[in-house]
Amino acid sequence: MPKSIAIIGAGIAGLTLGKRLQTQANVTIFEKSRGLGGRMASRRRENYAFDHGAQYFTARSERFRTLVIEAMVAGSLAEWPTAVPKLTGPGHLATDARTGEARYVGAPAMTGLANHMARGLEIRRETTIGSLVSEENGWQLRDQDQRDLGRFDLVMSTAPAPQTARLLPQAFSGQAALVQARLSGCFTLMVGLEFAPQLGFEAARIDDEILSFMAVNSTKPGRPRKPALVVHSRNDWAEANLESDQSAVTEQMLAALESRTGVNFRQAPWIDLHRWPFANVEQPAGEPFLFDPALCLGACGDWCIGNRVEAAFQSASALADLLTKILAEG
Ligand code: FAD
Repeated sequence: MPKSIAIIGAGIAGLTLGKRLQTQANVTIFEKSRGLGGRMASRRRENYAFDHGAQYFTARSERFRTLVIEAMVAGSLAEWPTAVPKLTGPGHLATDARTGEARYVGAPAMTGLANHMARGLEIRRETTIGSLVSEENGWQLRDQDQRDLGRFDLVMSTAPAPQTARLLPQAFSGQAALVQARLSGCFTLMVGLEFAPQLGFEAARIDDEILSFMAVNSTKPGRPRKPALVVHSRNDWAEANLESDQSAVTEQMLAALESRTGVNFRQAPWIDLHRWPFANVEQPAGEPFLFDPALCLGACGDWCIGNRVEAAFQSASALADLLTKILAEG
């Protein structure tokens, strides 16, 4: 009888784990959102498309490059942008020193890679895991309303470290490492426009006290042509303002955007803000993954290794290597 494994989260880590384990075990992925991809997030509003989480990623390891090539061939990934200059003021751009390395985006949206990886996996969307109840030789999963979601031999969480720490029991051997990992927040401003602004770049880092990065999202491959901007705040500024009134946050980000680009976007037809309480890894857990063989519980994600899409993939791949071995030994 194959083992049953519950994976919490359908971001890149959860999907990597699911894909690797699906031939050896009965795998069910639980995802609280409707869409897949976690922080590789996209949304469509009023014919505008915004990737409001990760903007692009690189592939430095052989294994990740293999996945990237496979997804490129399937049309789920594309290269973008060619350069990321630094914007210091209106029309002032410092050239990008790292143009040699390919950067990738999901196609036709950032969620493209997750949707590609999800094929053939059993995923229960819009299902938030609220608690784990210990049973003889396994775990019963419950949603936030205490509804029974089934019994599983093993449970792997890929939720950001603070959320995983709350879900897994205190007895979990990885609790100290979970507490060690630190993620910082971020605000993302989404601006939908009538006409494309002449900014002179597809994406730029921003030298500013409030903003860190902006992308002309509509220049990414496969997106609708309607001009759309995605603007990230700095993490330290977000941390100081996470509980602030969101219209005040929006106004401060628009004012900073005006001072850096010279354009007042306040009359744009679409303005929206997304608040990420756990966006970027400030301090990783320092272990490639966490696994407690006695409790049959594990955890992985970017927060184990570093602040990158590829780190989430590597963390899940390392945990999958171990679980594959354990499952093969029976
Ligand atoms: P996640 O993507 O967070 O996946 C975890 C999943 O678990 C989520 O889907 C969540 O909904 C789900 N979940 C959580 N709790 C529960 C629960 N109780 N029940 C069910 N499901 C649950 N990386 C780059 O490489 N390049 C970038 O340019 C970049 N920019 C970024 C900008 C922003 C604003 C943000 C937020 C992130 C950025 N990152 C970037 C980081 C990158 O997005 C992450 O490293 C990567 O996506 C993490 O993947 P993951 O699978 O580990 O976690």
